[in-house]
Amino acid sequence: MLESFSQRLVSCLPPSCFLARWGGDEFTIIVPLDKDVSEVNKIADLIINNLKDPFFIEKYTVYVTCSMGIALYPSDGIDSKKLIKNADIALFRAKQMGKNNYQFYITKLSREQTLLFELENRLYDALKNQELFLNYQHQLDLKTNRISGVEVLLRWQHPNLGMVSPSKFIPLAEETGLIISIGKWVLETACLQAKKWHNLGHQNLIIAVNVSVKQFQQGDFVEEVKDILEKTKFNPEYLELEITESLLMQDVTRTEFIINELSNLGVKFSLDDFGTGYSSFGYLKKFPFHIIKIDQSFVSDLAINKQDQALVSAVITLAKGYNMMVVAEGVETENQKKLLKNLHCDLIQGWLVSKPLKEKDFLAFLNK
Ligand code: C2E
Ligand code: CA
Ligand code: CA
Repeated sequence: MLESFSQRLVSCLPPSCFLARWGGDEFTIIVPLDKDVSEVNKIADLIINNLKDPFFIEKYTVYVTCSMGIALYPSDGIDSKKLIKNADIALFRAKQMGKNNYQFYITKLSREQTLLFELENRLYDALKNQELFLNYQHQLDLKTNRISGVEVLLRWQHPNLGMVSPSKFIPLAEETGLIISIGKWVLETACLQAKKWHNLGHQNLIIAVNVSVKQFQQGDFVEEVKDILEKTKFNPEYLELEITESLLMQDVTRTEFIINELSNLGVKFSLDDFGTGYSSFGYLKKFPFHIIKIDQSFVSDLAINKQDQALVSAVITLAKGYNMMVVAEGVETENQKKLLKNLHCDLIQGWLVSKPLKEKDFLAFLNK
């Protein structure tokens, strides 16, 4: 793919240009200008147009998109370091504007763009600098009143920025591909942690780890999970992976393969944020889910909204028919809990039961 892509790029460039692969799927082009800047626009337009045609790689037809950032010498920098940095800032803006476009460097990013750009750059070092840690939020079994499982929630504490919300940095981690190394770290740390809890006498605790689409798309996700389970000596039966529908819609054959391979080992799967996407019944039939998690947006108005009640009730009935358990997310009030119990919801998770806790606090809670 990279080779074909480079060839396609070369075909768009005048012979005086210089093309290099910068790393991963990033390329750098140096364009000597004869006349004026419009030459650069022409090249960029040509590249975007040329990439509209698919690539044929072995038996696959592959469509790609690209984003370009442009910095000019000497106005945007007089050395390579500065030029590359500013091209990178322009690239960041191009990505933000959606795929398949290019942007020139401008000195002023909006406040929000500056913040995101800084976040992205700092995220590269977060793992190495040990700024990431995990929080744990358990699920309560409404029948037995016991803890059944615990969801692992990633946190990032930056020395200057303070706590950064997952809803901000996880999309960035996904976009940059960093989620692959971060996700691996989360899974391994969670297994090690849960193993400790099991050894301390909490043998039946299940840990639920969120997995992003990007992790599934990498070549060897199954191997990676197997390696981690072996390395940490963690029993796969106590590992649950939370995935969202958007993941199921990607590459159904591959996803099916991954879910089946890991399910055969005993790993469980839950369908996260159910109700927010297409909520296709086809997925429930096709994939062996263990748990459906009803999104908190349906739980929050449960007490006052009859339609939400009908919907939650229907999902619970449906899940029972498929032998799946149901978790209601974001339960904040006693009233919601009571309603969910009446509707025969199996498990609840939310601030009413507990906020996400640090490792130490969660252990203290478990012991109590
Ligand atoms: P999610 O998987 O839907 O996680 C539930 C979110 O709801 C968490 O937000 C949790 O703190 C919050 N929450 C729990 N109880 C309540 C409640 O009673 N009321 C309200 N309003 N909120 C509640 P958080 O921790 O900010 O995480 C946000 C999202 O980030 C998660 O949504 C998940 O999609 C993603 N995420 C978190 N950790 C990871 C991770 O390790 N890997 C990946 N790929 N995604 C993660
Ligand atoms: Ca989740
Ligand atoms: Ca969720």
